[in-house]
Amino acid sequence: MSKPELCSWGRYPKVPQYRHACAWRNDLPGLFDKLIQQNLTTLPYGNGRSYGDSCLAASSALLQTRQLDRLMSADWEHGIIRAEAGVTLAELITIALPRGWFLPVTPGTKFVTLGGAVANDVHGKNHHVRGTFGCHVRRFALQRSDEQMPLECTPNQNTDLFRASIGGLGLTGVIVWVELQLMPVHSSLIDSLTVRFDSLGEFFSLSEEFDQSHEYTVAWIDCLAKGKSAGRGVFSVGNHAPSGQLQVDDRRRLSVPLTPPISLMNSLSLKLFNNAYYGLHKPGRHASQGSYDPFFYPLDSILNWNRIYGRQGFQQYQCVIPDAAAEDAMQEILSSIAASGSGSFLAVMKRCGDVRSPGLMSFPMPGVSLALDFPQQGQLDNSLFSRLDSIVRAANGRLYPAKDAHMGASDFQAFYPDWQQVEQLRDPALLSLFWKRVTQA
Ligand SMILES: Cc1cc2nc3c(=O)[nH]c(=O)nc-3n(C[C@H](O)[C@H](O)[C@H](O)COP(=O)(O)OP(=O)(O)OC[C@H]3O[C@@H](n4cnc5c(N)ncnc54)[C@H](O)[C@@H]3O)c2cc1C
Repeated sequence: MSKPELCSWGRYPKVPQYRHACAWRNDLPGLFDKLIQQNLTTLPYGNGRSYGDSCLAASSALLQTRQLDRLMSADWEHGIIRAEAGVTLAELITIALPRGWFLPVTPGTKFVTLGGAVANDVHGKNHHVRGTFGCHVRRFALQRSDEQMPLECTPNQNTDLFRASIGGLGLTGVIVWVELQLMPVHSSLIDSLTVRFDSLGEFFSLSEEFDQSHEYTVAWIDCLAKGKSAGRGVFSVGNHAPSGQLQVDDRRRLSVPLTPPISLMNSLSLKLFNNAYYGLHKPGRHASQGSYDPFFYPLDSILNWNRIYGRQGFQQYQCVIPDAAAEDAMQEILSSIAASGSGSFLAVMKRCGDVRSPGLMSFPMPGVSLALDFPQQGQLDNSLFSRLDSIVRAANGRLYPAKDAHMGASDFQAFYPDWQQVEQLRDPALLSLFWKRVTQA
């Protein structure tokens, strides 16, 4: 057996996880079978960019698909690619961008695999225009433990499995390959605009204004600001430039070399960072043009940045609140966080749109999403998170399983009423710690 070397991005919860890597499609049924014989259940694992326990196996035996990393076919005239599930979005960009194609939807890191992007039905800064990743998936192959061969799933073939697997948290089978419709672009540059704002009300007006005219919109919020400054932040929007170079950005990266014993994120360092970041952006509207990479993936420029939270790790809290209740609920959430003195240097707020996902358990809904990180400490779940959960519950919002390590079973089942359909289609040989917690507690 290999060393227990895998964890989730938040490095919490700490439960030993063993890697069993699959490098060849032909080897998958045999490895799957072996893991079930030895452990009863397993779970697919891509690149571990989920924060909590949805990518951790209840049995501790993970079937890693990252090494299934081959491009299988590409139609560059129409921008349709078929690639193995372990191919990362970074690798796809490298192949597609020079040919004038980009990802139709991308999360805030490019180090996620195709399989992981489908299983969490990830979303990005253009959710209000293009919906989730699953909206652009044409078909995929799914290996189930009771089938000799992978099943091909499309909107018209094995439809139930297609819908249950998009946002299905890796529970319906191992995705072997994915066929994706890419988006045409004329340049690798992004025309962007940043606007500093002083209140939550302003965030809502800016969203209203820019969601119409811009493919990408997102805001950074100063989660520690109180009183007159509460709800201040920086709004950032962008469009692909209409012409220019088509160049992959492969700049060198810094790396956090080791994990400090304690978190470097504390109320003092956060306050200093937030004040400095806010102050860096002068009032008014500032246009610029730059590479796609820092625009979409600012955190990817520092490898292993999750180590700054120390050995205890961290949790991300991401919720979405429906439009009708969004402003009041976000106000309440932000003041609870500011009062707690905890929170992250990166608090991201984004308006989600009404493009429906084919997935049964997709996270976004028309409304406003907020995501922030908290250093892990004993009382987090019982104090701040339970307060935030009650605000989300009362506002008919929901939490994002890809980021979660604390959601209670009754909340999950209320947030995702179609979970039972996924449970019916779940491959009994696949079980995550998350699924066990929210459905079998
Ligand atoms: C810095 C950062 C920014 C992020 N920004 C966003 C964002 O903007 N929007 C967003 O939606 N998410 C975001 N995320 C979360 C991330 O996009 C998702 O968690 C993504 O699913 C991780 O993909 P992965 O390949 O690392 O999969 P893992 O984390 O390893 O696994 C994720 C899920 O996919 C399943 N899975 C993996 N491979 C397969 C397979 N071959 N077959 C079946 N199931 C599989 C796993 O069982 C698990 O349930 C961010 C994460 C980070 C670290």
